[in-house]
Parts: sequence; structure tokens; C-alpha cells
Amino acid sequence: MDLHEHQSKALFVKHGIPAPMGEVAHTPEEAEAIAAKINGKVVVKAQVLTGGRGKAGGVKVASSPAEAKEKADSIIGMPIKHLTVHKVLVDPASTIVKEIYLGITNDRKVGKPVMIASSEGGMDIEQVAKENPDAVIREHIDPVYGLQGYQITSVANAMNLPKEHWKAFGQIARGLYACYAANDATLAEINPLIINGDNQLVALDGKMSIDDNALFRHPELAAMRDLTVEAEAEAIAREADISYVKLDGQIGCMVNGAGLAMTTMDMTQLYGADKGIGPANFLDIGGGAKADKVAKALNIILSDPNVKSVLINIFGGITRCDEVARGMIEAYNEVKPVVPIVIRLQGTNAKEGREIIQSANIPTLIAAATLTEAAQKAVAAAEGAL
Ligand code: GDP
Ligand code: MN
Repeated sequence: MDLHEHQSKALFVKHGIPAPMGEVAHTPEEAEAIAAKINGKVVVKAQVLTGGRGKAGGVKVASSPAEAKEKADSIIGMPIKHLTVHKVLVDPASTIVKEIYLGITNDRKVGKPVMIASSEGGMDIEQVAKENPDAVIREHIDPVYGLQGYQITSVANAMNLPKEHWKAFGQIARGLYACYAANDATLAEINPLIINGDNQLVALDGKMSIDDNALFRHPELAAMRDLTVEAEAEAIAREADISYVKLDGQIGCMVNGAGLAMTTMDMTQLYGADKGIGPANFLDIGGGAKADKVAKALNIILSDPNVKSVLINIFGGITRCDEVARGMIEAYNEVKPVVPIVIRLQGTNAKEGREIIQSANIPTLIAAATLTEAAQKAVAAAEGAL
């Protein structure tokens, strides 16, 4: 579960990390009132569970309460990635002298948390790692001994952080690890950690992801889950008992069973990656899916404007392929999709299923016998080649 910036920074502050502590507004008027209370320059920041808000125009500085109201009005309701902004954080604005990156995440390969730091803060750390790998410093933390003083020194040194900031940096690094460990986080990230106009280190942005499997022992964190900003399609899916996770690719996938769904995603990646094509979503319609559920799933998949083709991969066990095929035709007549749909049916009543699809005689419904063929056809369809 991801926490909002304001929630993450509140946890940081509890662990001794300095951060601007503004307030959340749901309306432009509330933003104006908060700015008036702060009585100085403010920054109005979209609270959505995705990065890159700055680039998308979701972070704006305002010099007066009236301007804060105006900025909030332009940000609330705007879409960032596939999410609608429902609220903004109004923080006292900072002067930025330097932007640093500091984060902690799990390194599964090593089996330990790793502290990641870079003097190239403010931008995507993945991008820094790609373009300037030497600028990314990694320090593994032994969970038994915790973050050691010499490790903090080593990171500060490798970052070329001026010595006058080492003490403050140590406090922040320790605080971040304590915050990460105490909350069973899988990510605790400050990007950017800035040196401000008063020569102080301050966490300007914050991001925490909490391990869902540990939420049972953090009821106060579980209560922070924000259902309003969840992708609408994901909420509809949950109601229909469909597991759906939106991704950034072009091939919408409808599959029964989580393992098969992941295999299907891997296959689209295998044949599409070199063309920049990949899965648009994870979707598991579950066992015994009936026609109406298939129609719902197709609707959910097609609500994503990035989807250029759909790959339906059904292994009929409890789920009967003829049921799925009927659901497909029903969904097709209801949704009238313009994108090509590749279908692979295998298992219980597969033959009947294929016959139903064929006799419907719909040119954009393409049958495939194997998963390889299905994935290749879905990639070709997404490219516009079919
Ligand atoms: P993100 O784009 O979602 O990571 O949002 P951030 O909170 O990191 O903000 C994006 C960028 O906006 C930062 O890297 C800063 O350059 C800028 N920014 C954010 N807050 C302030 C502020 O208080 N003052 C100034 N001058 N710039 C800010
Ligand atoms: Mn940021």
C-alpha cells in the first residue's frame, strides 16, 4: 500500500526528519485559507499515488493566498497518469539550493534493506541509474545491527556532501531507516532531500510503501488507505471480484488464474519489448467466470485508453470456455470495441468455445491455438499490423 506524500512526511517528522508540514485541502477555498495561515510563499502539491507530479504540472508555487486558491483550482480535478487529483497539500515553500536523493528499499537478491543515495536528486532515480550509474550510491543495511555510523559517513562522503551537513544527514538517514523498519515499509524515499536557503537539510517530498502483509499489525497505517484516489477501474474490478492492476503497456490481458496471468504478461513482453510493447494490465477473472463477469472484465480493460489490442487467455478448468466465449460475444455487442481481440481458449469445452467465436463472424476477434501464437498476434495487432 502506498502512502500519500503528506502521510509519508508526517511519519518522517515523527522520526526526526525535518519536513515542511502544511495541510491538505480538498477545495480551492481551503487551499486559500491554509495559505493565509502559513502567511508566506506556499507550494500547492497534488496528492495522488504516483510520481512525476511536478512534470505533469501538479506542483505549483504561489506567492499569495489568492494565488494558492487559483493554483489549487487548476490542480484539483486534473488527471495525472490515470489518476484524478482530489486533494492538494499546501506547504510552506522552500528555496532550493541543492536537490539530493535518499531512499531505502528491500534488495531481494541480497536479502537486506539497501540505502540508495545520490547527489543528483529531484529526478527519477531509475533515470539517474541509467544515465549516470556512478552517481548512485548503495549501502546495504544489516537488519540485525541496523544502520551503522560508518555507513552514513561512507554514503555522505561518496555523495560529496559538504562536511557541514554530515551531522544533519546522519540524523535524517537514521530517521529514515527507523521509519522504514518501524512501519514494515518496502520503500521509504525522500526525493528531493534539499539544502534550503537557510542551509538546512529538509525532506521536500516523501514516499512510503507499506508491505500489505504487515498491515495487520499497523491498524493506524491500514486506516490511511485512500480509496478515492484508487484508479476507478481498480475499484470497479474489486467490486466485481476481479483482480486488476493497471500497467503502462498496450496489450490488455484477460486471463483466469494469477499464475497464467503473469505468464501471459511475460509472453507479451517477450514478443513486444523490442517494439516498445507490453502488457497494459494484470487481470485475473478468477475461476468459474460467467458471461457477465467476462463482459465486466472487458469493459474494465477497454476503459484504459492506452489499450491497442486485447489478449484473452483462458484455461478451462472450472471455467468453461463456452461460457467465456458467450461472455465475449455479449461483451462485444455491449462495448463494440474497435481494437482487435486475440483469444486463446484451452481446456474444458474449448472446442465449443471456439465454435461460438467463429460462428459470430466478427473480423476483429482473432483465434489463436497456442499462447505463443496468441502473444505474437496480440503484439502485431497492437502495432497495427493486423
Ligand atoms: P514529484 O514530481 O511527484 O516527485 O513531486 P516533488 O514533491 O518532488 O516536486 C517536484 C519538484 O517541484 C521538486 O523537485 C522541486 O524542484 C519542485 N518543488 C517542490 N516543492 C518546492 C518548493 O517548496 N519550492 C520550490 N522552489 N520548488 C519546489
Ligand atoms: Mn519527488
